[in-house]
Amino acid sequence: VPRNPKNSGELALIDHIRTRASTIPSRHLRLGIGDDCAILAPPTGHELLVTTDFSLENRHFRRSAHPPEAIGHRALARGLSDLAAMGATPLACFLSLALPGSIARHPTWLNRFLDGFLALAAQHHFPLAGGDTSESPRISPKNDGFVLADITALGSAPAHRALRRSTARPGDFLYVTGALGGAAAELSALLKRASKPGAPHLASEMRPSTESATGNHPHLFPQPRLAVGQTLLRRRLATACIDLSDGLSTDLNHLCTASNVSAELDVDRLPAHSLTAALTNAAQIAAILHGGEDYELLFTAAPTTTIPRSIAGVPITRIGVILKHVPRRPRLLIVSGDTRFELLPQGWEHLK
Ligand code: ADP
Ligand code: MG
Repeated sequence: VPRNPKNSGELALIDHIRTRASTIPSRHLRLGIGDDCAILAPPTGHELLVTTDFSLENRHFRRSAHPPEAIGHRALARGLSDLAAMGATPLACFLSLALPGSIARHPTWLNRFLDGFLALAAQHHFPLAGGDTSESPRISPKNDGFVLADITALGSAPAHRALRRSTARPGDFLYVTGALGGAAAELSALLKRASKPGAPHLASEMRPSTESATGNHPHLFPQPRLAVGQTLLRRRLATACIDLSDGLSTDLNHLCTASNVSAELDVDRLPAHSLTAALTNAAQIAAILHGGEDYELLFTAAPTTTIPRSIAGVPITRIGVILKHVPRRPRLLIVSGDTRFELLPQGWEHLK
């Protein structure tokens, strides 16, 4: 009986991940994968910002519908977007994986997952500094378990300067980066294609390898807005900020509740993603207002602050205004011409 409780397959996998991860250089990582802990040296005068995100098969993705590169990319993008929302600079990430035995033994799927994960990590100088690897429990003779990927993202920001969601003030203007609804539009097209009998298997057909291939895929390859968040912090432009993971209505409600303010959105100013043009009018406005996972930034700024039309190549649109909250009155309003409606935060459900 081998004395090492870890099976050799797992050790080989970790060694493989370590080799692949070693290609991302970092000034702040003193010791990466291989010891009991990683060692980080954050920049002097900075605070640490930490966030974790689960990516669970059949909740956040489907192996039958999502290319493995997109699953890896999206797993990391969620954490990067949280760092972006607070204006942080990425320091290092960690990846805890539970893999079905079939994947652990023939790591083609894992390699493609890592292609997506590490390409996004490299783009943001975000070294993979550690994690954990385990085999998923078998569920039945035919099903050897699910893929679970939990990431931890560490970033840093100058002390006391990180952007928060709780600091918006009445009178501030409300801004959003990029365009909205693209992720919801792409997801609905993707699920339609995946459910068509005899349709080519998208997950295996798509092998994005260059940045251009990941270009206009707001669902499969969202681009977290790190440079925008860092600029907002550095130039003291924003009073508050949150990233759009659950959808505009839900995340705006989070920001307003945390800041104890109300907000009024101008529906005619909302920047629609080009992919939403394929939807019916009702589905388009739903995608823009409630579609999740666009990973854009929603921020507020004092009315006296000049906000550039674009930051780091990303367009910025003014979409509304922050108001004083009156108890028992609606927190979110939407105006269209002369008409005002209450906007309800419409919960975003993860993929079932
Ligand atoms: P320990 O048993 O001491 O926790 P492990 O054998 O689990 O260590 O891991 C060995 C090294 O490999 C550690 O540095 C750990 O952070 C790293 N590691 C394990 N799994 C992963 C993974 N999925 N991604 C990145 N690094 C990993
Ligand atoms: Mg140990």
